[in-house]
Amino acid sequence: MMDDPRGELNPVFARPGESDGSSKYQLPDRPMLPKTAYQIVHDEAILDGNSRLNLATFVSTWMDDEAQRLYAEAADKNMIDKDEYPATAEIEDRCWRILADLWHVPDPDDTIGTSTIGSSEACMLGGLALKRRWQDQRKAAGKSTDKPNLIMSSAVQVVWEKFCEYWDVEPRYVPVSPDHLVLDGHELEKYVDENTIGVVAILGQTFTGLYEPVDAIAKKLDEIQASTGLDVKIHVDGASGAMVAPFCQPDLAWDFAVDRVNSISTSGHKYGLVYPGVGWVVWRNKAVMPESLIFHVSYLGGDMPTLALNFSRPGAQVLLQYYQFLRLGREGYRAIQQNSIDVALHLSSEIGKMGPFDLVSTGDTIPVFAWVLKDGHTENWTLYDLADRLRMRGWLVPAYPMADDMSDMTLQRIVVKVGLSHDLADDLLDAIRAEVGFLDALKTPLPDMGGRQPFHH
Ligand SMILES: *Cc1c(COP(=O)(O)O)cnc(C)c1O
Repeated sequence: MMDDPRGELNPVFARPGESDGSSKYQLPDRPMLPKTAYQIVHDEAILDGNSRLNLATFVSTWMDDEAQRLYAEAADKNMIDKDEYPATAEIEDRCWRILADLWHVPDPDDTIGTSTIGSSEACMLGGLALKRRWQDQRKAAGKSTDKPNLIMSSAVQVVWEKFCEYWDVEPRYVPVSPDHLVLDGHELEKYVDENTIGVVAILGQTFTGLYEPVDAIAKKLDEIQASTGLDVKIHVDGASGAMVAPFCQPDLAWDFAVDRVNSISTSGHKYGLVYPGVGWVVWRNKAVMPESLIFHVSYLGGDMPTLALNFSRPGAQVLLQYYQFLRLGREGYRAIQQNSIDVALHLSSEIGKMGPFDLVSTGDTIPVFAWVLKDGHTENWTLYDLADRLRMRGWLVPAYPMADDMSDMTLQRIVVKVGLSHDLADDLLDAIRAEVGFLDALKTPLPDMGGRQPFHH
């Protein structure tokens, strides 16, 4: 043996730690060289799918070199240390104010917002504000606050199920049906009562990419108020769409321009074009964000209101959001999102023409679309088999059941993001054509592989 007690001279992969297998479920007794630990973690991670071919996720998988540099420089920033990092705190403030303006808040001086770790936290805060507002009004009227309910489509993102479970709110799901794939106000009066804290409208349903018509939902709530006196507000879950609609569908009425919209949330890490770890929520005015939910931290010797579930969380993502706002501006965001929509429309139209598929959506809202296998096309394969075949080529294109009430319908979906170029999209189309050819040539049904992982939206 060489005179090398710590194994520093050993070639890579022949070092202690690498040569003898690392301990996977227990803290190792002894340290190892940073190079060795790096190599082990790095190598484990190469077993992940390639994020650029991950067409399942809505979350950013590409940022430019300057953003990467900023990310590395700011990795140590804790967002909650507002007194110690006042510049980052100021930039956070600018970011949500930029969004408030983009979403047509009536009075820029009378609004409140915050960054969050993602849309999930932002939705929780939006929901909590609705709940607290309802509780305050009920208490003031001497009425019971025992049974709050929240109305939403049965095709909501899982965060809303969590919100109801965690905060003791009864979820009232309006079922999706072939005629009403999204919440559109249809039969809403059957769900609203005096215990309704609000209605969730989703801008960019995760299953299909379709928009819920915020304006139509609001009009229905106007009618309900006229006949019952109940004044029910809307939270717009714009996880994806709130960063697409302002640029690509500027005439759509979905934001604070619709009077009933109380609050809007979005994922900075989806079409805000930042790597995972940032979301945003903004309220119409300070009055609809109950003061009791706001806490105060010290900031430059003064006092800074905070409203968040997390305490510590990365500040780097907030700086990256501001970087994107400066780098891209309205024109840049429009160009990028429109290009993604164009790629989505190209893909959906070619997939629609292939023969075996019916499109459920085309990607003309957010650049997300889904399709089903045509009834009677084949008994030999399913969209799950096509997903498996594409995965063999590196493409991650998930198949999954539609939401409750339509869960016997199997969908397959593509989320187009910046980085899926026309060129790569054409490669994907070639792959789909080739695999459909393979599957259609089967003489007997493929076995049902079973054991599918549940797919969370
Ligand atoms: C992604 C998504 C969420 C959850 O957002 P995260 O940023 O992943 O926490 C909530 N609602 C909708 C509609 C979504 O698309």
